[in-house]
Amino acid sequence: KEITARENNVAKIKVVVRKRPLNRKELSRKEEDIITVHDSSFLTVYEPKLKVDLTAYVEQHEFCFDAVLDENVSNDEVYRETVEPIIPIIFQRTKATCFAYGQTGSGKTYTMQPLPLRAAQDMVRLLHQPIYRNQNFKLWLSYFEIYGGKLFDLLSDRRHLLMREDGKKQVCIVGLQEFEVSDVQIVKEYIERGNAARSTGSTGANEESSRSHAILQLAVKKHIIVKDTRRQRDRDANEAKNTKAVGKISFIDLAGSERGADTTDNDRQTRIEGAEINKSLLALKECIRALDNDQIHIPFRGSKLTEVLRDSFVGNSRTVMISCISPNAGSCEHTLNTLRYADRVK
Ligand code: ADP
Ligand code: MG
Repeated sequence: KEITARENNVAKIKVVVRKRPLNRKELSRKEEDIITVHDSSFLTVYEPKLKVDLTAYVEQHEFCFDAVLDENVSNDEVYRETVEPIIPIIFQRTKATCFAYGQTGSGKTYTMQPLPLRAAQDMVRLLHQPIYRNQNFKLWLSYFEIYGGKLFDLLSDRRHLLMREDGKKQVCIVGLQEFEVSDVQIVKEYIERGNAARSTGSTGANEESSRSHAILQLAVKKHIIVKDTRRQRDRDANEAKNTKAVGKISFIDLAGSERGADTTDNDRQTRIEGAEINKSLLALKECIRALDNDQIHIPFRGSKLTEVLRDSFVGNSRTVMISCISPNAGSCEHTLNTLRYADRVK
């Protein structure tokens, strides 16, 4: 399969919307599906409203994006539409980011979960192609979480991590564990291990994980073969020093977009987290827009999330945002917020 030929066709920023089907609960409540996807890039939201005299009417909102995927689109098709075209250019010094944005329950995790595994599959295959086979490229994986403005390594017992900026303005997460992954089965095991370590609290998985951003990175690195025995010793002591970054793709399952509004909650902790989430989602939007306009100054410092992603936004980069939306009438306000956010990014 020849995928490298498509490298020049990959847009710098791509905004994709994915609508999930009505779930059993919504169906049992006889909730209406208020979203119609017209073709692969265009949708209408039919917002139920009431006049002052309480007569019902519908307000229509139309949106256009790079791609709109309806409830019949499979995860595999999502992969082909979003991540697949980027994979070959990761081997050519590109840094890419793929976000899932949307309210809790809209399908972010459902959408993001299979993507890194599919990507790893294609990346491992590329590593073995003749053009790369002799370059000594290897694939590395890391998985961490931003929760309440703090970083936790999901692959080393939720160790609290700190960020540091070196002299070259490169952001480095001190002590983040990275693992070399040579086959897809190992990637799968790391992903499952990391998922199990996501903040779940006692109230149930979706409740707590919806307040955190989970970031899984797959990096291609070139390993430098050291012949000299003295340097060989250094190599054993510090493998990382003898690798050179080539490209990287980050998969981000963002906190529920509605959590940014938790700033008026009675619980102090929830309020603080809400403010942090709000800040990071705003900062993210600002960074993507700055990137799209080729602005020199990218406002990374707006949040932990954007600071961590700083090196993915400079130089040769690609960004895919998948906005997930719920189809039910009860989610209309959140859905419109999600679509407006995506609209502004574009
Ligand atoms: P989020 O991560 O945004 O909070 P989830 O990914 O957990 O949402 O999705 C909520 C529920 O909806 C899950 O039970 C998930 O399996 C289901 N779901 C989400 N998207 C789809 C889809 N496209 N097709 C079928 N089920 C879906
Ligand atoms: Mg989720």
